[in-house]
Amino acid sequence: MNRTAIKVSQVLKSASPLSTGNVSMPTTAFKVLCIGAGTGGISAASTLSKKLGINEVGIIEPSENHYQQPMWTLVGAGLKKFSDTETKMSEIMPERAKWIKEKAASIDPEKKLVVLSNGLTVSYEYLILAPGIELNFGGVEGLKDAIGKDGVASNYSPHYVESTFKFIKEFKGGNALFTMPASPIKCPGAPQKIAYLAEEMFRDQGVRKDTNVGYYTGIGKIFGIDKYADSMWNVAKKRGINVNLLHDLVKVDPTTKEATFKILGDGPNANTLVKQKYDFLHVTPPMKPYDFLKNSGLVNKGGFVDVNNETLQHTKYSNIYAIGDCNSAPTSKTAAAACVQANVVKTNLLNKIFNGISEPVIKYDGYTSCPLITGKNSVVLAEFSGYTGKPKETFFYNQGKESKFSYWLTADVLPQVYWKLLTTGQWPGPSSVRPILNPLNSN
Ligand SMILES: Cc1cc2nc3c(=O)[nH]c(=O)nc-3n(C[C@H](O)[C@H](O)[C@H](O)COP(=O)(O)OP(=O)(O)OC[C@H]3O[C@@H](n4cnc5c(N)ncnc54)[C@H](O)[C@@H]3O)c2cc1C
Repeated sequence: MNRTAIKVSQVLKSASPLSTGNVSMPTTAFKVLCIGAGTGGISAASTLSKKLGINEVGIIEPSENHYQQPMWTLVGAGLKKFSDTETKMSEIMPERAKWIKEKAASIDPEKKLVVLSNGLTVSYEYLILAPGIELNFGGVEGLKDAIGKDGVASNYSPHYVESTFKFIKEFKGGNALFTMPASPIKCPGAPQKIAYLAEEMFRDQGVRKDTNVGYYTGIGKIFGIDKYADSMWNVAKKRGINVNLLHDLVKVDPTTKEATFKILGDGPNANTLVKQKYDFLHVTPPMKPYDFLKNSGLVNKGGFVDVNNETLQHTKYSNIYAIGDCNSAPTSKTAAAACVQANVVKTNLLNKIFNGISEPVIKYDGYTSCPLITGKNSVVLAEFSGYTGKPKETFFYNQGKESKFSYWLTADVLPQVYWKLLTTGQWPGPSSVRPILNPLNSN
């Protein structure tokens, strides 16, 4: 664990979980209640609890650990240790907030109540939803049995990310397949980043000439934004990676070591199934919004919390906000987006609470970012607005090109920003530094 986390833990010793073992305990009330203390939740709750005072902010979070998930791509390639990506939740819980160490089970937005998984209720004036998105390994036939064993791994789970590195190191040649589902997922660039890193490792290990590297994606593009898609096509071509669009993984058979893909779209082969043998298989599982949100009637057709794109306020309940992977904002679901969204919500909410002004002071513009790691020393640093589809680059250089500097930022600078600034609520996103780092605004 890094030095900052230790320092923070020393300061935050008093942040203890609320005891919920006593069923006769009365409802606890909070000015602001936050569901989830991942990237978005911790960033919002840290600032709000500092400004609002002791026990005005409640945080419902069942997990013992907080993970810096973006670094799992590098863990899967053996370039970072898993232990660098996790810390005890107790060490980053804001001192002045009350940690309710339970799962949220349902929400009654009319009564302004959240029911916990132990049956107790918590009430709120304002609610911030930030539970993320659920991994659905069961959404692919056979995957639950296959994952973590015999060459099948996934960077997306803390349980299997270290298997990725193990299986790549043990790989002796054959078919190495990398998949991306058709469902919405967090960090849509991550499924292909590990393909580039593994391809480089196969070369270093001397097995590349005996290896077919295949990338199979359920969507119809290699990347959603043209500028970066062009770069990624060039990288894939240069590196001899076979890209298969509209191929959605539907089955893994660990006994025959075969992956089955359904061809999507409306082409002549649509809906047919194709099988491919694998010797190494990196799976990005399908993902889905949490059921408790759907059951609370707060979501759109796709199951994501229905928010105003600019204010991230619920379309029906103005005292409810949703940030990060759980919401309907039409942009790529990333930590970068969650953090900027958290800044919008906390800034506007504080203005509302202290000044009584409901008009937003700042609006979310769809900003998101995905460092497309293409090797152990190169990154295409995609930064864009999912709302306009246009780049929103922080630096003056062309971030669409592979760059060592972008790798250094991704592997060495961003983790520091995450632990030191984001988890303590002090990182509003790169808009604060863009005028200095990109003064002529190359975007
Ligand atoms: C392999 C990988 C690579 C990635 N790469 C990048 C990258 O390079 N750049 C980038 O910006 N992003 C990246 N991401 C995505 C990024 O990590 C997520 O988009 C981000 O963490 C979303 O933040 P969040 O707050 O919405 O959810 P999370 O950070 O996932 O946090 C959700 C929290 O809610 C809690 N929770 C869940 N259910 C409940 C419940 N019922 N009640 C209470 N709490 C609950 C969870 O325990 C968790 O702590 C990557 C992710 C992965 C897995």
